[in-house]
Amino acid sequence: MQKIQNTDKDSRYIFITGGVLSSLGKGIASASLSLILKQMGYSVTIMKLDPYINVDPGTMNPYQHGEVFVTDDGAETDLDLGHYERYLGRSLNKNNNHTTGQVYFEVISKERRGHYLGKTVQVIPHITDEIKSRIKIFHGLYDFIIIEIGGTVGDIESLPFLESQRQINLELGWRHVINLHLTYVPYIKSAGEMKTKPTQHSVKTLMEYGVKPDVLLCRSETKILKEVRQKIALFCSVDENSVIDVPDVEHTIYEVPNILAKRGLAEIIHKKFDMKVPHLELETWTKFVNRIKHPKYEVNIALIGKYTQYRDAYKSILEAFIHAGSINNTRVNIELINSENLSEENVESLLNGVHGVLVGPGFGNRGIEGKIASIKYIRENNIPFFGICLGMQCAVIEFARNVCGIKDANSSEFEKNDFNVIDLMDEQKKITSKGGTMRLGAYPCTLKADSKVANAYMELNIFERHRHRYELNNNFREQLENSGLVMSGLSPDGKLVEIIEIKNHPWFVGVQFHPELKSRAVTGHPLFISFIKAALNKQKDIN
Ligand code: GLN
Repeated sequence: MQKIQNTDKDSRYIFITGGVLSSLGKGIASASLSLILKQMGYSVTIMKLDPYINVDPGTMNPYQHGEVFVTDDGAETDLDLGHYERYLGRSLNKNNNHTTGQVYFEVISKERRGHYLGKTVQVIPHITDEIKSRIKIFHGLYDFIIIEIGGTVGDIESLPFLESQRQINLELGWRHVINLHLTYVPYIKSAGEMKTKPTQHSVKTLMEYGVKPDVLLCRSETKILKEVRQKIALFCSVDENSVIDVPDVEHTIYEVPNILAKRGLAEIIHKKFDMKVPHLELETWTKFVNRIKHPKYEVNIALIGKYTQYRDAYKSILEAFIHAGSINNTRVNIELINSENLSEENVESLLNGVHGVLVGPGFGNRGIEGKIASIKYIRENNIPFFGICLGMQCAVIEFARNVCGIKDANSSEFEKNDFNVIDLMDEQKKITSKGGTMRLGAYPCTLKADSKVANAYMELNIFERHRHRYELNNNFREQLENSGLVMSGLSPDGKLVEIIEIKNHPWFVGVQFHPELKSRAVTGHPLFISFIKAALNKQKDIN
């Protein structure tokens, strides 16, 4: 683990653990807290500790773990880092996500090198020391360091993380560490009341591990009555003011910072740390939330992909649409369409009423022909089209087949032949192991002046994040260009085609990178903003 040396700031640590069950929105709560503290003028960073043994989520199926979020420095990370970046409004890196797999990998490698000098290597202290050095990697660099521990308290997997939390409490003391615990308070219909027992048990388990929560964030469907909060406070040994109810939001998760602010979370935290409470500036954020809640317009966008049963697989894309929608004062209704169900015969009826189509990223050949058939229809019928990574590659294949007349055009990912307009990059051909070996992270790209993308970005040099093995095959570049495919974004050395578009179409753009990973709340991403504008124009045309 590389050490970042700095002792400028008197860093304070805020741990966030989860109880009762998963999917309560611990990541959103953590991200919201990071925003609140930032808007009070502090420097803030936020870290996720994941208890699984995979080194990173890069090798996991999206159904297992949702989207893989890629950072500028090419780390494949948990999708919560996407929330953090979207709320905090800045880029994080590989030091913001650590897994059990990485921790053990490091300790075992050290053991093989003889680092432990004859000692028995154990969970305590060796694994916990490694975890603590990762938690403290930003020490002195930020005013607040938020640490979200993945999983639910009581899981076997997360124990070493909780033990490290206990040790850090002991080492740094109450002036520098506080513990937030997020639980669930269910409403039991037959009893007609909210039940506190699951929260009591969860806190009890946490205390058995030696961690005493300072603040309880109680998730619930509706507002929690004062008496119920008093009961939780008494049974869980937390002061009453520090039991905060966080009911489900009606409109948008971007409202959570406002809810936590209204409940006084920042004041509670400052009181615990014995700090003065600075002014909290949430005006811009609140305007952004209000635009989401009360938009003027509405468009329908189809998202074609293969992981349509699980929206988390396209998390950043869905969020990018919310950001771009808010900037365009528009509600963006997303319909997920499984490309396996699409064919030349049914594409027209399935895309009826749609004002724009995004063909998403993916791996493997399932559903590819459905994507290609729909892109043909979209291109010929002037429907705004946005292809991301695999979506861009499918657009190139479609163009090669139906405009250039290369009828066997394909990607070598799906069929190796003499017409692989999409092919493995040379350095990828030598690679044999799967984890962390794709083209990953941010790369520069130079845009062609006067192209659609240059108009959207309003600049010619951009940086975008990648995660793929295949590229447009340069042997076919001239032929594609001669038939009208515009290569509107290239790597600075001109060797890699990063963006394609076509002329005489309202908006047809394919990008080899993942713009959705850089879309932030409030500001959005230029390509998504421009695509939604095109969809709004399409809607006007239809009506
Ligand atoms: N499977 C394609 C590749 O590896 C596209 C990957 C993606 O969409 N992220 O190049």
